[in-house]
Amino acid sequence: MANTAILRDVAQAVLRLFPWPTEPGLRTVGTPGPESPVIITGNYDLTVRRVLAALRGLDAWVVVASSRGINVWCAAAGGMLSTAQVITALKTSGIEQRVSQRRALLPQLAATGVEAREVARRSGWKLRFGPVYAEDLPRYLAAGSRKDDSMRRVRFATRERLEMACAWAGPASILLALVAAFFRPAWAIPLVVQSWAIAIMVFMVYDRLPGGEMITRRRWLLTWPLAAGLSALVAALFSGGTAAVAAAVVSATALLALLTFDFDGSTPIEGGSHFDSRDWAITLDTDLCKGVYSCWEVCPEACFEKLEDTRKVEISQHQRCVKCGACVVQCPQDALFFTDQEGRRIDPAVIRRFKLNLIGSRGVDTGSDPGV
Ligand code: SF4
Ligand code: SF4
Repeated sequence: MANTAILRDVAQAVLRLFPWPTEPGLRTVGTPGPESPVIITGNYDLTVRRVLAALRGLDAWVVVASSRGINVWCAAAGGMLSTAQVITALKTSGIEQRVSQRRALLPQLAATGVEAREVARRSGWKLRFGPVYAEDLPRYLAAGSRKDDSMRRVRFATRERLEMACAWAGPASILLALVAAFFRPAWAIPLVVQSWAIAIMVFMVYDRLPGGEMITRRRWLLTWPLAAGLSALVAALFSGGTAAVAAAVVSATALLALLTFDFDGSTPIEGGSHFDSRDWAITLDTDLCKGVYSCWEVCPEACFEKLEDTRKVEISQHQRCVKCGACVVQCPQDALFFTDQEGRRIDPAVIRRFKLNLIGSRGVDTGSDPGV
């Protein structure tokens, strides 16, 4: 049993880029009653297992909504975990017959795709956005459903970086080994070693390289000599021969380009270098702001600061914004929006409708008017 679980963990780590659905519906932790907390999550198997494990020892209901087997943030950003999916789960899972209240908790990272106000209007359920990480759920619940700063921010810690490295290195090394097995079996091992080394280097080191904005967008040029040199060395050690070294340099370049070109869009580390809208800026209309603080609650980068005296917010950490769009989606006043390179306002309705954000849709044809 334990072996099966470990095998599943390894398989999910390596195949993380692919959907891994589990059955949507209602789960229980402990012996929940009518007043027990209701926690909603997406039906990515790993996510559900982590939520259930985090809640061990408590009594809670877990409603698993369809996210097409994709993790919460990617599914919410891409429109697979949306308002409709959450309402469907609440209405069909049987939770309404089990509890006496209509309050539920969503992972904070679902805020990019699930409109809490719409869920309340259409289903009667009041949603709160809980902590970013499932492991913080017990602390959050013990604190009376309150988040401190440590529960609000995406940490992108070493474990997550390694998980992302596995997610890319796994499929890349399998593919390269298969190709090598057909043409040059002796190259298979160096190519696998190279895939893992580059993926780990990119995810562990890439954004930690020194330098300002100018270097940020050209960092792959700094990492290329390292990756190509390392690959050439491995190829020379394993296979020898000029052809093997040349192949290693070419494949290292291709893999590095793949990871760093789309790296920004596949992780929350920084804005995308190949994201057409990367120069959009999050903008606040302070006249419209009524201090509901939904933006402050859902921002995974803690870009906002509450101004208690005026009951408004300010964007105090502009440079951290990863353009996830969560604050735009949740602001009830439409006080937050993106502005493009020409300073034009992108209507929040467009962001909500098309899931136009860093990690979801990369572009939408709005013609000459971005507010369409
Ligand atoms: S910007 Fe919007 S969500 Fe943020 S405090 Fe103001 S009204 Fe509330
Ligand atoms: S300020 Fe940026 S990072 Fe924060 S919620 Fe808004 S779009 Fe996302």
